Amino acid sequence: MMRLIRNSKAFTLVEILIVVAILGLLAAIAIPNLIKAREGSAETACKMNRAVIADAIRIWATKENKSIDALQTKFNGKTIKDISGDGVEIYFDPKDAVCPSDDTQSYTSTVDANGLITIYCPTHAAAPVG
Ligand SMILES: [Zn+2]
Repeated sequence: MMRLIRNSKAFTLVEILIVVAILGLLAAIAIPNLIKAREGSAETACKMNRAVIADAIRIWATKENKSIDALQTKFNGKTIKDISGDGVEIYFDPKDAVCPSDDTQSYTSTVDANGLITIYCPTHAAAPVG
């Protein structure tokens, strides 16, 4: 008579299924948090890009001795890609002219009556930086 010998060191199917289920549960908890953290870091990078561009425009205006009227003519409603190639871009990296979350659209800029420069992001519209 043949006897079945069970290797006691091997995992059973139930044990493997339990491990897979636990790993799936941990992944289900971790993945949404990782996605949220990634978007948070992209939003922070976006804010820093816009702050650098606003500073670059201020430096450019100071060095070129531009008036508020000249700033408004040059920057109101224009995208940062539009103004790149016109002397301003030497003060910032042109690859930073787009949002890290959505690199298909460029930032836009405004200059108010007091010369305050504000840079807007189409993706993070609620947080203009100036
Ligand atoms: Zn953005």
